Amino acid sequence: MDMEELTPTIEELKRVLEGKADEDTIVRELDTYINVYRSTLEAAKRGIVRKYGGEELEFVSGDGVKKKVERIEGNEQNVDLTVKVLHAEKREITARGEPKTILTGIIGDDTGTIPFTSWETDRFNLEKGGTYNIRSAYAKTWNDRPQINLGKRTEVEADASEIEVPQRVISYSAKEVKLSELMDGMGNVNVTAKVLSVGPKDITVRGEPKTIFTGTLADESGKVEFSSWGEFPHEEGEALRIENAYVRAFRGIPQLNLGERVSITRVDDDIGELEDLESSTPRSIGELEEVGGGLDVLVRGTIVDIRNGSGLIRRCPECRRSVLNDECITHGRVEAQQDLRIKAVIDDGGGALTCIVNRELSEALSGISMGEAQRMTEEHHDPDVVAKEMERRLLARAAEMRGNVVSDEYGMMMIAQDAKVVDVDVRADAKRLLDELEAML
Ligand SMILES: [Zn+2]
Repeated sequence: MDMEELTPTIEELKRVLEGKADEDTIVRELDTYINVYRSTLEAAKRGIVRKYGGEELEFVSGDGVKKKVERIEGNEQNVDLTVKVLHAEKREITARGEPKTILTGIIGDDTGTIPFTSWETDRFNLEKGGTYNIRSAYAKTWNDRPQINLGKRTEVEADASEIEVPQRVISYSAKEVKLSELMDGMGNVNVTAKVLSVGPKDITVRGEPKTIFTGTLADESGKVEFSSWGEFPHEEGEALRIENAYVRAFRGIPQLNLGERVSITRVDDDIGELEDLESSTPRSIGELEEVGGGLDVLVRGTIVDIRNGSGLIRRCPECRRSVLNDECITHGRVEAQQDLRIKAVIDDGGGALTCIVNRELSEALSGISMGEAQRMTEEHHDPDVVAKEMERRLLARAAEMRGNVVSDEYGMMMIAQDAKVVDVDVRADAKRLLDELEAML
């Protein structure tokens, strides 16, 4: 079961528990019940409610409720709608490390419009202008606005009726978003952010030379690279209100584009010192999966796997790719060079992310130097001995990683620019959880 499907349950538990457990706790508990104890969803919900002292009887029943669009609140688990599709487009995302095609857009009825996401593009063919009966959809809130999700349980059938959607609500109202919420394909975006760096860049557009301005913006939620296609008379350190920008991703990292329609004004209200923006708080891996990547992101979680390809490896001197038996797929037989690397999977309870850690950081993280790694490998006649020792030292440790999070055909990964084990005693944490469970049974 993926987190997307669990969102209504999380919302429901938050409501029922009335602040007795925060979202991170609920997500972690659900994950433990479902993935470790293999409980059913119902059993997990009951267990969590019992544990944190909520009223057990407040759960919504399983039958779908027929609703008009304007009555969608964003916490419906099972809702039926009859709607017209006003806009629909396919989008490639990475969910749990797997490439996936989803369909997003706007649907509406005679009461209003609402964004939707279909996670099952193979099963539903929703076309612009068509009217459909949707059964067993679920709703959640994104950027403070409710949105409809079509998941595994959802059924869709075409409807012959014609729906009049009121004009006034079709307008794609500009969205005020945090930089961490920027997602490929967004238009009409408003942000308030500080300029961390900016400079001119010469490019060629349709054979013509052109100077644009590129740089980095930051707010308290994260950072983003931007390109301004027109004038940009602003300097490092200025706080700006940017309206009507749009987002395109490069290798999964959302980038903000300031095009012809953009309006930029300087704002005086302080949005934080630059130093504070530099040391941003950790991002949730689940959220990163929703947007596909990010610039200079901090994540904090538990190291749950040291993947193949960690330890002492050999690289082609030409292309730096790792090679087996000194054969590069591009350069043939080469005099390979040794390198040290860790591919660590870090899990923050909401998702998992593979972090690629370079030699210098691997040495610091594992305490194994290049020289020691070479000696260990020779002594044990085992090419995997270093990886095994790294695993022994790092598995189940809490760690903090910082770097760019990119997506490609292999999924989402972080190129670590900083990596360290942090002083959270995961074992003590796990023991506490078990004690609590035992006390409950
Ligand atoms: Zn090569």
